[in-house]
Amino acid sequence: MINVTKPYLPPKEEYTQFIDEIWNRCWLTNNGPLVNELEVVLKDYFQLNHLLFVSNGTIAIQLAIKALDLKGEIITTPFSYIATTSSIVWENCKPVFVDIDQKSLNINADLIESAITKKTSAILATHVFGIPCDVNKIESIAQKHGLKVIYDAAHCFGTKFNGKSILEYGDVSTMSFHATKLFHTVEGGAIISNSPDLIFKMAKMRNFGHDGPAKFSGVGVNGKNSEFHAAMGLVNFRHIDEILETRKRHFFQYSKWIKKMDVEMPQPIMEGVEWNYAYIPVIFPTEEKLLKAEKALHDHYIYPRRYFYPSLNKLEYVDEQPCLISESISKRILCLPIFHEMSDSTIDLIARVLLRAQNYE
Ligand SMILES: *Cc1c(COP(=O)(O)O)cnc(C)c1O
Repeated sequence: MINVTKPYLPPKEEYTQFIDEIWNRCWLTNNGPLVNELEVVLKDYFQLNHLLFVSNGTIAIQLAIKALDLKGEIITTPFSYIATTSSIVWENCKPVFVDIDQKSLNINADLIESAITKKTSAILATHVFGIPCDVNKIESIAQKHGLKVIYDAAHCFGTKFNGKSILEYGDVSTMSFHATKLFHTVEGGAIISNSPDLIFKMAKMRNFGHDGPAKFSGVGVNGKNSEFHAAMGLVNFRHIDEILETRKRHFFQYSKWIKKMDVEMPQPIMEGVEWNYAYIPVIFPTEEKLLKAEKALHDHYIYPRRYFYPSLNKLEYVDEQPCLISESISKRILCLPIFHEMSDSTIDLIARVLLRAQNYE
């Protein structure tokens, strides 16, 4: 059986060394030394000023919305994982969906201004599949209208724009280090911001609002992460170059075949993007063709995933707002299996099954 992804696992001895250390210290959570070390290591790697390690990528988005004190309407993308939209609703704001760009599958920045109302407080966009949004255009719109910007950068480990990490953009960027992501800590996430005030506020918020043992400044939540999760991050980080290189190799192995298929892949719309090859999303001409391809793969015990389906503007708990491109793409896009340990022959097998399904129609 081949699933859409398989978590990366480092050599077990490397992890158990950290576990022995944790046993000796008996410091399991609450801003322990490994959590601090992981924050420093990641901050240096991305060349960022601040980074907070939190319990997952969803709480990272919720903390960002809370810390920026967002109210009313938040302009967002309908093409993302559900956590992007559900976090807005969870924080009692209203998601206002702006349709996506055909090519990058990110929010179409040219359509944002016409969705702004007196109630708009922010833009929450996803760099979907690790391909950057039109960050410059979004920044100028936000400045002109006094809006905050949050980027859901859950897919962006290793993505660069003009030689710098894409995480530098926006008032806040959030990441997910869930087991299925390119870099993971089993469960985990991060919050990135250039603002020391915001980081200070979110650092308190992730720890119940504690400002000392018996003092609280503002309402908080439990968004902390543990030494065990940080240890997994530190060990996986030792292998990050190899993880990123392998992804790229898999991507090029796939692309040889994909060129021969009647499918398209999303593309960056800006110059200067270095993509991380996190996913292999392919867009079919029709949903019928997707279903046929999916069935052929299932018959070979290969399980791709329909990321992202359905389009988030169709969720029952949001007001109906049409986003025709997102709705159309959602029905026609399939993410093919990609994970570290994959062999070229597995990629060849998947591609052959897909080509055969396309040719027998
Ligand atoms: C995975 C993911 C999240 C949620 O992250 P968790 O760590 O699973 O909470 C949010 N947004 C996007 C785009 C994701 O892919």
